[in-house]
Amino acid sequence: MSSKCNLCGRETALGAPQTWTGTDGERIEIRMPRDPSALIETPEGDLEICFDCYPARVEQRFAGDLLAEIHYQFGLDCLMREQRGLAEQCLRRAIAIRRSDAYLDALAAARTPTMHGDG
Ligand SMILES: [Zn+2]
Repeated sequence: MSSKCNLCGRETALGAPQTWTGTDGERIEIRMPRDPSALIETPEGDLEICFDCYPARVEQRFAGDLLAEIHYQFGLDCLMREQRGLAEQCLRRAIAIRRSDAYLDALAAARTPTMHGDG
């Protein structure tokens, strides 16, 4: 499986394999892209954007709701990686464009301290 950024055409570099244990105890090995990335569904097809293009190239190329959605998707990806500071930045950019309940919920999640207490 390889994926490419739709803006710069570069292939997304994958990180080291990680083993996750599912809720049923099944162990699965996954490889996530090394850096945060976003996949956005548009009427013209899926749009994949790498972290090199974010936010400068993204902000040159997109505007309005689609730009907000890209900020949101990067925010979710950073949140999943426990990069909360970065997630908050992305989500604030999304909310500055459009106040959506989903964006606000994600921002609240980014600002909620985890059990590890690393904030
Ligand atoms: Zn790119």
